[in-house]
Parts: sequence; C-alpha cells; structure tokens
Amino acid sequence: MASWDCYCALCGGPPWVMLRPEVGSADPEALLLRRARIAKKKRRLAGEPDVHESDDENNARAKELWEEKEISEAEEKRSYDPELITPGNIEWLRMCHCLGLGPKARVYLSPPGYYGDYGVFCIRPNAEDLANLDPNLPGGPRRGFLDVDCYTKRNTFACFPFHTTCYEILARAIFGNPDTTRIDKYAMYMAMQQIQVASGSRQHLGLDYGEIGGMDRTWSSVPGEEYSVHDPRLRPDISRTIQAMLSPQMFAQPSCLPDLSPKVHNDPFTTLPYDIIVMVTPYLSVQDIFSLLQASLPINKLTNSPNFWQWMIRVHILTWFPEIEDLFTSSEALGNDPDFKRVFLWLFSVTKPEFGMKGPFIGIANRRRIWNAIQPLALLYLDKIPGPTPLQEH
Ligand SMILES: [Zn+2]
Repeated sequence: MASWDCYCALCGGPPWVMLRPEVGSADPEALLLRRARIAKKKRRLAGEPDVHESDDENNARAKELWEEKEISEAEEKRSYDPELITPGNIEWLRMCHCLGLGPKARVYLSPPGYYGDYGVFCIRPNAEDLANLDPNLPGGPRRGFLDVDCYTKRNTFACFPFHTTCYEILARAIFGNPDTTRIDKYAMYMAMQQIQVASGSRQHLGLDYGEIGGMDRTWSSVPGEEYSVHDPRLRPDISRTIQAMLSPQMFAQPSCLPDLSPKVHNDPFTTLPYDIIVMVTPYLSVQDIFSLLQASLPINKLTNSPNFWQWMIRVHILTWFPEIEDLFTSSEALGNDPDFKRVFLWLFSVTKPEFGMKGPFIGIANRRRIWNAIQPLALLYLDKIPGPTPLQEH
C-alpha cells in the first residue's frame, strides 16, 4: 500500500521535517529559471496578460541546464527556493504534539512526537518529558510511548496532530496570549472532532488553510508556496525592519476629498451609530468592512477618523502581529500625524500570504494564514466552554 501523509490540524503543514520539505538547486542559473517560472505563474494568477517569454522557451532552457549540471528535474519542480527556505526557518515544523482521546474518554496533550506514515503519529518523549506526562495519557509498560492513528474514529486512541507553534497561535486567538495550558483539552478535542467529521478528511481537519497546494497524498513542496512552511513564530526584530522600510511621506494625510453627500438620497446605514459600527468590526472580515465602506458613504465618513483606523489595526492586525505594538507607541516611527487608514492598508498588504511571496514578512504571512484558518475552531471551542468566554476577558 502506498504511503500517505497527515497534516497539522491547525496549519495544514507537514508535521515533521526529516526528508521534506525539500529545497531546490542553489545553482544561480537554476535559481533564475525557477524564479522566472514563479513570476510567470504569479502573473497568470493575477490575471495579467503574459507578454514575456513562452513556457516552451523557459522549459527548454531549464531542461538543458538540468541535464548539463545533473540537477533532478523532478526535485526542481517539487522543491522550495533555497534562499527562502533554510534549515533554520523550517526547524519549527519539527516540534509536534497531538491531542488524543484515551481510555474513559479522557483527552491528553501528548509529549513530542512525529508523523510516522500511514496515518500514524508516533509519540516519543525524552527523559525530561517522561517526568511531566499528562495524567490522561494511556498507561502500559512503556507509558508515554504510543503510536496513534490520526484523524480517525477507528479506535479510542485517535488523535489530532499539530505543531507546537500552531497550538500557541491557537491559544493566542482564544485568550490573547500563547499560554496553551489554559486550553480545555476535552473541549478542544471535541471541537476538532466535530470539524473533522463534517469535512470527512482523513489527512487534516478540513479548515480553510488558504491557497496552498502542498497537502497532496504526500506533502508536495510547491515552488512559490514557501510561505506555507516558513517559521511563523514571533519576530521581536521585525518592527526595526519595518522602521527601516518607512519613508517620511509614506503615511501622510491625503488632500481633501470632494464632498459626495448631496448625491446620497437613501442609505439605510445613515442611522447606525458610530459605537455600533466599532462594536461589529471585530466580527466582520476586512474584505466585508471595505465592501461596507464602499457601499455606504455615511459609514465611510463616520469611520474616516484616526481613532477608527487605530481600532481596526488593533482588532484586525495586532491580534496576530503583536510585535509591532511599539510602532504605535513611538511617536516618530510612523511620522507626524500619520493617516492610520494608510498604515492599516500597508500592513495588511505586505503581510498578505500569497503565491511567490518573499521578503521580511514571509513568516508573518504564514502566521496570518494560520490565524485565519483556526478562527472557526476557536469559535467552536468557545461555544463548548461554559460561562463567560475567555475572549471577553481582555
Ligand atoms: Zn501547524
């Protein structure tokens, strides 16, 4: 039977890094050809007309080069750019755990483990882990060492594997901080199971993991999708990088816009108070908010204030990108009297996870992708917790 892979329940990425993801040739010509192919696909995805060289020309040149330098064609077409993916920025994929259901319907958080093929997660604690095992972990002569089926109800030991980092991102989405000990494991297991059963998938949870093509029968390191495996952990140095990218006029206030109010004859949103708009914005997607601003001039005018856009940055960016908080506390960072709508749009644009992405925000874009993917799980989990929701605490 051919082997298959199971993926992180939270990010959809590979829960191990022994052989994969793969990186391609670092030969300068091979890199040029790789990037030309990615740029071409990126233009095609953006719907731009292709006026550059044809696929045939690029392919012919690539084949020649691969033959001449003995570079594997198959590996080049199923590997990442070696300058974007390094051992250091995929190390986080190595750290995995799972939530499993043990005897007497008790849910445990496993010690570290790795994916071992054929749908099995291998729990392999080290000496230090053995001293701190979850009391709900099944017993036995080698307690702590288990091979558990992923994404199946076939036996009572079924589990949901995930990266440690992704579990911390999930905790942040629920509690506003990455303390995973606050997660009610039973409620989380039940929420995961409900989503998996609804999706019918036996390889992942079935969340919307974004536009990534890696989750094949076995993991495919798709060129151009480097962001999908890049380290999403906090980057304390990132606000210095951002400050180096900014110019004094970047977020300057726009000149006055024409008053279009006389053209509005009937808008049902006219009577909506500002406070209500502010209260609902955390529950709307950014795309929905911009659609609303475009559809309603009164709301557009009502929200045309620094306070509103600072609020938008707080609820739609700082939640998953907390390390840039100091950009907003330092008076010089964004220039004098910045236009916060521009600041919001810039931050939202540079961190967008998209095909062919590179540069300093690639890991942040992966975090944003994971954050978006886990929102339905976080909400379902909160539904299963009695009393005030943790989200209401902050
Ligand atoms: Zn993950």
